[in-house]
Amino acid sequence: MNVKKIDHIGIAVESIQEALKFYEEMLGIKCTGIEEVASQKVKMAFLPIGESELELLESTDPEGPIGKFIAKRGQGLHHIALRVDNLEDALNELKEKGVRLIDEKPRPGAGGAKIAFVHPKSSNGILLELCER
Ligand code: ZN
Repeated sequence: MNVKKIDHIGIAVESIQEALKFYEEMLGIKCTGIEEVASQKVKMAFLPIGESELELLESTDPEGPIGKFIAKRGQGLHHIALRVDNLEDALNELKEKGVRLIDEKPRPGAGGAKIAFVHPKSSNGILLELCER
């Protein structure tokens, strides 16, 4: 598999609107769009920085994955996403090598990307996303 770059870093926040006061007003990073992914009960804000970007994740439902994450651990770093050439091939390769996956097949992510998560048990405690776009 060919890992090309850090695609984005996902940060769980209680409120995108509140968080943007820090990222935009204090750090001067521009938010280029907000998108809701209903299936994941999440709203995302995209803040490109050079070759990659920050993704702010706000839950739209306390029972969604980000809602549960914040209830358990508070706001903070949620996942790191690496961009790969071919996600399907990458997942097959990892499966063959015995890596534990949360998603065995690619699923749709924000902005038309294909994404899949690797289990933190296999990635030294971080939630790792692979994405292709
Ligand atoms: Zn992500």
